[in-house]
Amino acid sequence: MAKNPSPVWHPFTQHGLGEPIPLISHASGARLHDAAGNSWIDAISSWWITTHGHAHPRIMAAIRAQTEKLDQIIFAGWTHEPAETLAAALVRITPDPLTRVFFSDSGSTSVEVALKMALGYWFNIGEARSRILVLEHSYHGDTIGTMSVGERGVYNRAWQPLLFDVDTIPFPHEGGEQATLDALDAACTEKPAAFIVEPLILGAGGMLVYPAWVLAEMRSICARHGVLFIADEVMTGWGRTGTRFACDQAGIIPDIMCLSKGLTGGAIPLAVTLCIEPVFDAHYSHDRSKTFYHSSSYTANPIACAAANANLEIWRDEPVQQRIDALAGAQAAHLALLSRHPRVANPRRIGTIAALDVTTPDSGYLSNLAPRLAAFYRERGVLLRPLGNSVYVMPPYCTDATELAQVWEAIADSLDTI
Ligand SMILES: *Cc1c(COP(=O)(O)O)cnc(C)c1O
Repeated sequence: MAKNPSPVWHPFTQHGLGEPIPLISHASGARLHDAAGNSWIDAISSWWITTHGHAHPRIMAAIRAQTEKLDQIIFAGWTHEPAETLAAALVRITPDPLTRVFFSDSGSTSVEVALKMALGYWFNIGEARSRILVLEHSYHGDTIGTMSVGERGVYNRAWQPLLFDVDTIPFPHEGGEQATLDALDAACTEKPAAFIVEPLILGAGGMLVYPAWVLAEMRSICARHGVLFIADEVMTGWGRTGTRFACDQAGIIPDIMCLSKGLTGGAIPLAVTLCIEPVFDAHYSHDRSKTFYHSSSYTANPIACAAANANLEIWRDEPVQQRIDALAGAQAAHLALLSRHPRVANPRRIGTIAALDVTTPDSGYLSNLAPRLAAFYRERGVLLRPLGNSVYVMPPYCTDATELAQVWEAIADSLDTI
């Protein structure tokens, strides 16, 4: 087979299968376009990041304006207005106990920072704890540290020897919630440093949903045992689950919270890790050795911070919550229609995210089901990227009824065709 002539090595892409790689030239709202006039509806928000739609004018304008002023500045010991404004705003819109904001540049890094903060906290207060509790089927990123706290499998087998040990709590499947809570309670008695969790829905693990009361119970178990509770809201943040943050639905306040993806509306990379004052205090000292030793070159890049500030203004000034509620309702209606299809199992939805499992008569077929379905949708002008046999729709909030109908029609047709 002729190898792809482009030198680009794409993420999570098997170049050896020779699948076409569309070249996108521009995008706006929920639509992606190529130079030849083809277009696709971005039904997965470009991998869960685009919230208000592509090229939102306000975010683009904020980026342009910031490029006239300040491009980049070392953030160790120096600061700038977009970061100060953003940090203050984030502290304002999150629950009061979250008082400090540490900047980084991707979801994975925000999780690495969270883990380092947790261990730094215990180390600096003189009670070295290092074990991390995780939920089964979790995904927290693709760096060595974040793979360590995520599900082990084909996606990380080659690096298994480098991954550190964690204690895994069973996923709270319907009917098994108490077993999850009991396992967490037992694991917490072994004095772990922290429990990290994706609140309400596990994304890459297959869009697995669990109830808010379980999240609330898990949080209170950790509080009871003095185990730091890390909420990875990298995917769930910024309205995906129906509320601005998934933790809001459970009425819980994490000790450490990771945000990225929709933080800039999905326009440009940025991440933050928020924490409670005691975590900051443990690193606050006349003793330099207690410094939080973490940085990346582009920490709090001013242009990215300006985009995030524009995102917060959109949340303040535009009817974002109404759009989310409307999209959630439309998703529910489409899912309900399709859930009676004989090929559909486990229809599920939370907020703007709808998912279903595709059943096939031949289980050997399952292994390449996802890429086959993705190719089918691509031909139909829809960007969807099933996870195994789970098809999910997670569109930008600007997606209109016609666009959403086209997405669900493609899914319905795929079930009849495969
Ligand atoms: C996407 C994701 C990450 C990783 O974010 P990147 O920006 O891709 O590094 C971490 N946690 C969750 C829950 C995610 O969905």
